[in-house]
Amino acid sequence: MSHANYGIAKHRFDTLVIGAGGGGLRAALQLAQAEATVAVVSKVFPTRSHTVAAQGGMNAALANVSPDNWHWHMYDTVKGSDYLGDQDAIEYMCRAASRLVIELEHMGVPFSRLDNGKIYQRPFGGQSQNFGGAQAARTCAAADRTGHAILHSLYQQNIRAKTHFFDEFFAVDLLLDDEGYVLGALVLEIETGEPLIIEAKTTLLATGGVGQLFRTNTNAAINTGDGMGMALRAGIPVQDMEFFQFHPTGIAGKGMLMSEGARGEGGYLINKDGERFMERYAPQAKDLASRDVVSRAIATEVREGRGCGEKGDYVLLKLDHLDPEVIMKRLPGIRDMAMTFAHVDPIEKPIPVFPTAHYTMGGIPTDRFGQVVVPVNQGTAEPVPGLYAVGECACVSVHGANRLGGNSLLDIVVFGRAAGNKITEYLGESRYHRPMGRQYVDKALGHLARWDKRGKGESIGALRDALQRTMEHYCGVFRIENVLAEGLAKVLEIEKRLEDARLQDHSKIFNTARIEALELENLVSLAVATVTSALARQESRGAHTRIDYPDRDDERWLKHTLFYRDGRRLDYKPVTTKPLTVDSFPPKPRVY
Ligand SMILES: Cc1cc2nc3c(=O)[nH]c(=O)nc-3n(C[C@H](O)[C@H](O)[C@H](O)COP(=O)(O)OP(=O)(O)OC[C@H]3O[C@@H](n4cnc5c(N)ncnc54)[C@H](O)[C@@H]3O)c2cc1C
Repeated sequence: MSHANYGIAKHRFDTLVIGAGGGGLRAALQLAQAEATVAVVSKVFPTRSHTVAAQGGMNAALANVSPDNWHWHMYDTVKGSDYLGDQDAIEYMCRAASRLVIELEHMGVPFSRLDNGKIYQRPFGGQSQNFGGAQAARTCAAADRTGHAILHSLYQQNIRAKTHFFDEFFAVDLLLDDEGYVLGALVLEIETGEPLIIEAKTTLLATGGVGQLFRTNTNAAINTGDGMGMALRAGIPVQDMEFFQFHPTGIAGKGMLMSEGARGEGGYLINKDGERFMERYAPQAKDLASRDVVSRAIATEVREGRGCGEKGDYVLLKLDHLDPEVIMKRLPGIRDMAMTFAHVDPIEKPIPVFPTAHYTMGGIPTDRFGQVVVPVNQGTAEPVPGLYAVGECACVSVHGANRLGGNSLLDIVVFGRAAGNKITEYLGESRYHRPMGRQYVDKALGHLARWDKRGKGESIGALRDALQRTMEHYCGVFRIENVLAEGLAKVLEIEKRLEDARLQDHSKIFNTARIEALELENLVSLAVATVTSALARQESRGAHTRIDYPDRDDERWLKHTLFYRDGRRLDYKPVTTKPLTVDSFPPKPRVY
């Protein structure tokens, strides 16, 4: 299948999937089962994708533990999104959830069980019965290793379906023709540094989130937003980047995640006076209020001097009142991590925690079929031919301004499958590959050639560190105009410094140094997108909290942000408030 093309090896497939997390693998499986030839490219071995780290679980209104139905799930998701989520996509996702959990179970995911043999479900933040009533228990879990179980099952199913894997290959850029069709991608074999063209009738981006924007985060080191960076370079905007989720309970100072499942199983937060302070901020839901609410509460406790420890810079997550059996059976991974990284056994002592960067609500704009859709003329939008995106790198948008815990594993499976089906339809109509002109490849090679030199300036590592500290300091949980403006200037300065960055000049590691440089380029362009969007949005909604604009402003700001790389231009598009079959949930004050 491989033949030389301009001196570069070339492979041809029906369809290319970039990213082997849950989103990419679910789509690839759908495609392979439809008899398409599928290439999956991943910069790490597939089962090391960040999906493997998901702990708490996946939402579906199975009603195994509390009364439930998809419509209540939909209400909670719309409310959780602070009304910025698109209600057509949310309805679609919540309706599909139960069927897809059962499907995963049949693929081999060992969900935890109730005594009656049904799938166990735990309560998670922002879940209610009957449109805002009593707490619901909607999150299906395989202990606290749900993502691990899902990712391994999907990988094995793909092996069986004969998906072709390019493990440890790094995607550099999309290849586009003059008419804007996406023809595949330029990738690098990490081990040898050799470039390779993968030509395909459709390309799906499933490259995950960009948690590495912030110094303290729960994400894997590989979560550098490469797919979003590739889209930006191809002239495609990124949507809603100002909405970044800070998870309330990261291990203080380190950032590793202590799953919301810990509070779902009965844990709660206390300040230095031993007070269960969430009762003040969210009288009804308390510790299981939505994540943005709990993160702000923790940051406020610390700012107002009620933090714990010598520096008063964290609060405590208390689990020691729970039956040790519960901790060992339902939260074994959490206990392990707390002992390793915080040096406390949660059976005996509470865990020091502080909000940590966790989830990218924004991303590449898509419709609910995974097609990348961009505005063309006033008010109209059209798919980019041949390009699709799913998972954390995409913005459908089902999470709006704030994602509910357990909705992301659901998102990747639902929209991975939907994109697979949509691509299959497209392949049925498109028998031939479009011609791959030399000039299209040259453009991508030109970008790569930038890093053939080794530079004399600062090291890539030092610049990445500077970027992460800047983002944490200037664009964190609480935001305000002058600080954001300063942050933007700093990020732009880092972008300039990157042009002369120094690559490690030890020949053996030069190759990985080049990849780190490419990743940092992506990170920097997403930092610019994030701060620019955050500076523009003069309201507080979901995870975006402006001290200078403390209220939500539906009149001016019930709309999605689009950021373009060229000229750092911003544009906006309306929120889809009309669901598929049910009535809209109109914006209401959001209380928990
Ligand atoms: C610690 C943690 C716990 C979580 N817990 C939960 C939970 O309990 N419930 C829930 O619903 N959600 C949870 N989430 C969120 C959820 O896990 C993720 O949003 C989701 O798994 C993302 O899946 P994905 O397929 O989009 O991307 P990922 O799983 O991040 O995979 C990205 C893939 O893209 C590849 N890639 C990236 N860039 C390139 C490139 N340039 N070239 C080639 N390949 C590339 C990577 O190799 C990888 O295979 C958690 C997240 C974290 C960080």
